Amino acid sequence: MSAIADNLQAVQARISHAAAAVGRSPESVRLLAVSKTWPLSCVVDAAEAGQRAFGENYVQEGVDKIAAISGRHLEWHFIGPLQSNKTKPVAEHFDWVHSIERLKIAERLSAQRPTYLRPLQVCVQVNVSGEASKSGCTPDEALALCRAVAALPGLQLRGLMAIPEPVDDPLAQRQPFRQLRQLSEQIRAAGLPLDTLSMGMSHDLEAAVAEGATIVRIGTAIFGERNYA
Ligand SMILES: *Cc1c(COP(=O)(O)O)cnc(C)c1O
Repeated sequence: MSAIADNLQAVQARISHAAAAVGRSPESVRLLAVSKTWPLSCVVDAAEAGQRAFGENYVQEGVDKIAAISGRHLEWHFIGPLQSNKTKPVAEHFDWVHSIERLKIAERLSAQRPTYLRPLQVCVQVNVSGEASKSGCTPDEALALCRAVAALPGLQLRGLMAIPEPVDDPLAQRQPFRQLRQLSEQIRAAGLPLDTLSMGMSHDLEAAVAEGATIVRIGTAIFGERNYA
């Protein structure tokens, strides 16, 4: 087996263990392999080990990989910050976007989504307490943004996403994830059918699964340390 196949197995085992600890089924958590900065050969290795869903942060890098590997029927998730002048290739090539933080971007993605594709599956990114990046809407803005996104024909609203500040203490890690889950429960109570919580990365996936993550976004634990140079 390749190192990537071994790592995928180890990450799946972490997910299963974390799910079992809180009485969840491991199938209720999807693994998104975050392949940003890694060459296509790494995506191919992971795909051959059975991995289907991949996450990318940079538009051009993602689009290049999608075009190069289009025969394999993989699922591509855009998870990085998105500027309005880059929405078109994302609308045309990706299956999901996790990083919707303002309505203008959502409106452009909806208008640019080709009608021969199913609606783009999207999450609203929320800046819960102690956010590492400055991205995301505030918790107070989330319901209104979700309502507006849900009304756009080219998009299907699926849920919420967050990237909390990296901390080591497992109990402290759970707090922003719990906040995101509670926010999603409030939005569901307001009538929007959210089924996705995109939260948890290599260092905190257990805490995220304990708090209800349905998609964990894992890069380093699968592919190794990234080198941005
Ligand atoms: C890079 C990235 C990840 C993966 O992080 P790892 O710590 O390498 O697992 C997850 N989500 C987002 C939004 C990212 O940018």
